[in-house]
Amino acid sequence: MKIAILPGDGIGTEIMAEAVKVLKAVDLPFEMETALVGGAAFEAFGHPLPDATLKLAKEADAILFGAVGDWKYDKLERSLRPEQAILGLRKQLSLFANFRPAICYEQLTHASSLKPELVAGLDILIIRELTGDIYFGQPRGRRIAVDGHFPGAEEAFDTMRYSRPEIERIAHVAFQAARKRDHRVTSVDKANVLETFQFWKDIVTEVHADYPDVALDHMYVDNAAMQLVRAPKRFDVIVTGNMFGDILSDAAAMLTGSIGMLPSASLDANNKGLYEPSHGSAPDIAGKGIANPLATILSAAMMLRFSLNQPEAAERIESAVSQVLAAGLRTADIWSEGTKRTSTSEMGDAVLAAISR
Ligand code: NAD
Repeated sequence: MKIAILPGDGIGTEIMAEAVKVLKAVDLPFEMETALVGGAAFEAFGHPLPDATLKLAKEADAILFGAVGDWKYDKLERSLRPEQAILGLRKQLSLFANFRPAICYEQLTHASSLKPELVAGLDILIIRELTGDIYFGQPRGRRIAVDGHFPGAEEAFDTMRYSRPEIERIAHVAFQAARKRDHRVTSVDKANVLETFQFWKDIVTEVHADYPDVALDHMYVDNAAMQLVRAPKRFDVIVTGNMFGDILSDAAAMLTGSIGMLPSASLDANNKGLYEPSHGSAPDIAGKGIANPLATILSAAMMLRFSLNQPEAAERIESAVSQVLAAGLRTADIWSEGTKRTSTSEMGDAVLAAISR
């Protein structure tokens, strides 16, 4: 088994160092190879996703990704910006299914923006389609309007589209994931207004016929946004398109307290995947040694479970994280009165010690 390690920029290198430490501690026969990506790769090779990095990502059985980006690259032409590396990897590796669990740890309920009783025990999984929808639909661009409210004025446009196979495969992923959980799927759409999402709803309903043991309900995205902050525990698995998923998964992230706690996975049809924390490169705290490494460590656990078929090792890491939180250790983003503030590397060391116990 080979793991591509792509630390990236900003806190990416700091949090990845801790995840690598933890991966070494579970003592499995895998090889780890590191490559530059994002701004760091642009500095060295003039491109955020150099050929050698892409080759390593393609060869590897799984990819562990830190984070990319820095404000100093904002003036670069779009194709050279660090964030293009992640879009390029998703596209080149056909990573169409994004898994974003939102779990609220018992000890962190106070850090949520919602009342503790609404989030205590929260465990939902958002599955976002990642390679279609209005983010990739063609045509798109700017032009002079020939109709609409202001003919002759400048306008911009994008295209929302989904094909049958794209919807079928993400629906299968969601129903199969629900079978490993509470057997409930909520498909989020905007079928009342958008043709694309009426089609989405029809096809998800068709695919559901293969999964009679899983309950399916449909919800409009505006209502889903409301329910996520009103009664988030009513959900088990949420499946939705690229744009709605982008927005809802960030809202769900905040329910759990800190984005520094949330792992994510992006999988292809064979469960090969790219695993990364849900947050970015946090240039505001980079180099200070205070970033929370737990989202990256938990991403490594997800990688062991989904792509490398090592559920016991994944369990050991997840349980070590719970133990460390129970012992009151906190990085700055989740710190509160009465708990012990740790640095990035102290947090990694504490997880390591809990694994070895
Ligand atoms: P961000 O997620 O990097 O940071 C948002 C806030 O959360 C900041 O205050 C930051 O300090 C804090 N934060 C994030 N991760 C943390 C952690 N592990 N521990 C403690 N605090 C943490 O988002 P942003 O500031 O909007 O973007 C910064 C850069 O990251 C930009 O260049 C953006 O394009 C990029 N970005 C990259 C990815 C990715 O690599 N997949 C995702 C989102 C943003």
